[in-house]
Amino acid sequence: MSEPKDPAESGTRRAFLKNVAVVGVASGMSGVVGETLAQTGSAPSTTGANKPASNATIDINRQYAEFLSFADQQDFDDARRGLIASLPDPVIIPGQGDIAAWNLQQFGFLPKGPQNDAPPTVNPSLWRNAKLNMHHGLFTVVDGIWQVRGYDLSVMSIIRGNNGYIVIDPFITTEVASTVWKQLVIPHLGDKPITHVIYTHSHVDHYGGVRGLVSDDDLRSGKVKIVAPVGFTEAAVGENVIAGNAMGRRASYMYGSLLPRSPVGIVDGGLGKTTSVGTITLAVPSVFAEKTGQKMTLDGVDIVVVMAPESEAPAEFMFYLPTFKAFCAAEDATHTLHNLYTLRGAKVRDGLLWSKYLQSSLDMFGDDTQVVFASHYWPTWGNDRVVSFLRAQRDMYRYMHDQVLRLANQGLTPLEIGEVIRLPDSLAKRWYCRSYYGTVYHDAVAQYNLRLGFFDGVPANLHRLPPTDAGKRYVEFMGGSAAVLSKAHGYYNKGEYRWVAEVVNHVVFAEPQNAAAKQLLADAYEQLGYQSESAPWRNFYLTGAMELRNGVRKLPAPNPQSPDTIQAMPLDMFLDYLGIRLNGDRAAGKTAAFNLVLTDTKENYVLGVENSALHYSRNATSKSPDATVTMTRADLNNIMMGKTNMQKLVMGGNVKIDGDGQKLGDFVSWLDSFDFWFNIVTP
Ligand SMILES: [Zn+2]
Repeated sequence: MSEPKDPAESGTRRAFLKNVAVVGVASGMSGVVGETLAQTGSAPSTTGANKPASNATIDINRQYAEFLSFADQQDFDDARRGLIASLPDPVIIPGQGDIAAWNLQQFGFLPKGPQNDAPPTVNPSLWRNAKLNMHHGLFTVVDGIWQVRGYDLSVMSIIRGNNGYIVIDPFITTEVASTVWKQLVIPHLGDKPITHVIYTHSHVDHYGGVRGLVSDDDLRSGKVKIVAPVGFTEAAVGENVIAGNAMGRRASYMYGSLLPRSPVGIVDGGLGKTTSVGTITLAVPSVFAEKTGQKMTLDGVDIVVVMAPESEAPAEFMFYLPTFKAFCAAEDATHTLHNLYTLRGAKVRDGLLWSKYLQSSLDMFGDDTQVVFASHYWPTWGNDRVVSFLRAQRDMYRYMHDQVLRLANQGLTPLEIGEVIRLPDSLAKRWYCRSYYGTVYHDAVAQYNLRLGFFDGVPANLHRLPPTDAGKRYVEFMGGSAAVLSKAHGYYNKGEYRWVAEVVNHVVFAEPQNAAAKQLLADAYEQLGYQSESAPWRNFYLTGAMELRNGVRKLPAPNPQSPDTIQAMPLDMFLDYLGIRLNGDRAAGKTAAFNLVLTDTKENYVLGVENSALHYSRNATSKSPDATVTMTRADLNNIMMGKTNMQKLVMGGNVKIDGDGQKLGDFVSWLDSFDFWFNIVTP
């Protein structure tokens, strides 16, 4: 094949300019979400500075190609199986203004077919996965169960009920959900009402598009019921509030949303092509899966629940459909080694629990299942293959957990464990155990962290110097930056990019203006990105390289929460977030106490500051507050959404302040605002 054209140099440049800057939503990421960032300036000029793949990179990528079986075409057959219809090519789903909600055309540089035709700048295993994730359309899973794939990071499934449809996991955005419903589901399956929507878990790619399918009226009247695992709402709303800004910024690296779509940029998301862009909603569930073995009948369809909390998501469940001999594995068995830790940042996940949930699934339904489908990727058909797939997934997560703990108990530290651990060939040679999303390395370090925390037990690592202080001293010890860069170039030429990254990172943190250092570090990151089988790793490295070369492009910051999320947020969670914004230094030596009275929700809180920390009590009233603030939760929501501010509401008479209003002003002045575009690859 000829090397695909970089879209920045071809006719798709315009489309690329319109869509490149979308800050990430993601599976496993949830709430902080991708509000569209309209691109006002020029495109990132990454392409001009891109280096070709080095010989060392070509050699690494060749080793992948030799290890894996490209002759095995089963995935390509499965990804195409049961196709009913597709949206017309080129696939562009309209979004808001000039920004497409979904644009598969941008990935048109990917060829078709199972043969290994990866360009030197892309790991051949990832390239194959990227090609598989180009398959799109409405597909039959079995008679009465369908999937819509290829129009978002996630997959939507549909079950035929007695009176209508049961929808599983309605994508990230309403634009995608409503478009595929109108253009694929209604014309090809028939126009019938939706009776239930099931969220398999609490990540945004499995609920965000819900209001594209169901109206407020249908939810209010109970005509459509929302089914979710217990704990769903708190998990969905909460995961990204406390650390939302940092997670969102890191997600912009992980999902490659700032990168050009090209063989030197993003080629895939590792779990689906990428994330859709548009309106994210949340309809709060009213029916809950609570217990493994629980039976539910939804519109005449029986399901049997397997709970999977704290596996891939804090709230998650899988279920068996006896009528169809089908098993929905949610996101616990997909065609990749998933994240036991996600690089955007989140709590570490437990490989042991994860594995046990798959064991329960096999014990309960293994003999009777003819097809397993999930919320990403294509299904697996036939009992033999289903059982083999679920066993391998079960063993993969168990292996990651157990072997890490075996090595830790022998005294190995996380970096040592990450370096030696490999999946056995019996797993590693299976395509669905490859590291497209998680990796063996970072999942291993995560399992150490799960059981033993961040400290490896070596005193030298207990109280290390921070990066800039360490960088300055390392550079001095190594004979100054010119000497370091000269030596580092030698290692670069030998293909030792990890070592180059480590030492040159010290130079960049010691001398952030050193252009030669940033260039060399960017070059090393880029080769590491070209070698990465994992899409998040590739996207992290290539985004890091881009920001070293071009600086941080401060696009309009995304709005961290959708209106639905804010409405669903318990007041406790909002106050906890206020506590995180409290600047301890500014509040030092100060005290404050307020009564907060919400008239519409009839909630009373006492909120205080003392010892540079915030505290509060629910259902309480202080007898001697500095001030009492009386307002509605609805107005508080509007403040949270940035639609208004306290001052305007006070002036307009919507907020009543009794007591010392100045004290309230002081409190607000102690709160930090967070800059989304903080530096990552430079100090
Ligand atoms: Zn997902």
